[in-house]
Amino acid sequence: SKRSGRGRYTFYDPALNPASDRLLHLEQRLPKAIVGHELVLHFQPKVRLDDYRIVGFEALVRWQHPEFGLIYPNDFIPLAEHSGQIIELGDWVVTACCRQLADWQAAGLELVPIACNISAKQLLDDELPERIAGFLAASGIAARYLEVEITENSLIESIEVAGHVLGKLAGLGLQIALDGFGNGLSNLSHIRSLPIDSLKIDRSFISDIRNSPDDAVIVSSIITLAHNLKMRVVAEGVEMLDQLIHLKTAGCDEVQGYYLSRPVTAIAAGQLLLRSTLA
Ligand code: C2E
Ligand code: CA
Ligand code: CA
Repeated sequence: SKRSGRGRYTFYDPALNPASDRLLHLEQRLPKAIVGHELVLHFQPKVRLDDYRIVGFEALVRWQHPEFGLIYPNDFIPLAEHSGQIIELGDWVVTACCRQLADWQAAGLELVPIACNISAKQLLDDELPERIAGFLAASGIAARYLEVEITENSLIESIEVAGHVLGKLAGLGLQIALDGFGNGLSNLSHIRSLPIDSLKIDRSFISDIRNSPDDAVIVSSIITLAHNLKMRVVAEGVEMLDQLIHLKTAGCDEVQGYYLSRPVTAIAAGQLLLRSTLA
């Protein structure tokens, strides 16, 4: 049975609609998860193809649910976006990244930037830059060690407001990456008008790069375009050595993917960074 409305109990059969039942539960429990330490960040290294050093990490949020186990972001980020809780969740992610950087700094590690994924709603919040500046200041971390990854989808609702927020973030010294480039509604005017430091080539162009001449041409065109605009290029979803070889030959700057490392816990990420520094 489940408590509904004004303290009455209604009986229902979860088998009738188990998926939406679970979604409802997750959406209702999310605020608790945010304040109750149920969210964790995993970190996936970005590796420079010149020397294979780790030059950054991407923070990827997971929900360590007491009953359901580890839940991946595609199962709850859309809920958080829908309910507006993405603002609190996003602040938690940035704070956790700052804390991680501060720990590494205290340990004497050479810092590399950590990238956070930022949703459309966050980009429409014109107080976001001030809050991020506050999180950075509170943890004693320079803004250049924080990167935000945005997608072109998050620009659709209001390019004016999103552009304004991005301009402020760039003004603070944060790095800006355009994620999933080439996928969806890519618009070249975005990379001209926004303060973008790097392009992340969408995984869908990388998966078949060795067999698809079209994908290979698109990837090398994106690399040329980015370099001519003084941006770095990161290829995501690199799962095999032959993809890596192809990207290195094509002049791609950085790679990310299971071939190099899956997203790992904070502890494992620190160890990877330490080893990369020793190398
Ligand atoms: P994304 O930003 O495109 O992140 C990359 C996703 O691809 C991650 O999935 C990562 O684990 C996965 N991945 C990395 N390397 C490989 C590979 O070699 N092969 C394959 N097949 N996949 C790879 P994850 O962690 O499940 O995240 C999914 C999406 O959820 C992310 O896509 C991002 O859009 C969103 N997300 C994750 N964390 C956050 C967050 O803190 N805030 C927001 N707003 N969104 C987040
Ligand atoms: Ca991303
Ligand atoms: Ca991506």
